[in-house]
Amino acid sequence: MVTNNLVVKVASRCNLNCSYCYVYNMGDTSYKLQPKFMTQNVIESLLLRIKDNCIENNLSEFLVVFHGGEPLLAGIGFYENFIKTQKRIIPKEIRIEYGMNLTVHY
Ligand code: SF4
Repeated sequence: MVTNNLVVKVASRCNLNCSYCYVYNMGDTSYKLQPKFMTQNVIESLLLRIKDNCIENNLSEFLVVFHGGEPLLAGIGFYENFIKTQKRIIPKEIRIEYGMNLTVHY
């Protein structure tokens, strides 16, 4: 299967507490066993897989969409490190674009 995008769950916690949330408000507490944020080992493994996927399938662009939990809980340092790691692992000829999936409460 060829893909040019991924939704990446970087945070296993959320501070929004939506009443309808099936992850945090329906009795499944398994998220508490997960790391709060994606670890450096997982970031590097993910980026290596993206690199291999792009090279094998001759892709020059790839989209990464950050998701959670609440991805903003990871903080700016997490994303600075993610991009720094991306630049170290993925050749510059492959353009990585980023998005973020956010929940807005009105
Ligand atoms: S923002 Fe999403 S993950 Fe967070 S509580 Fe609401 S539905 Fe759940």
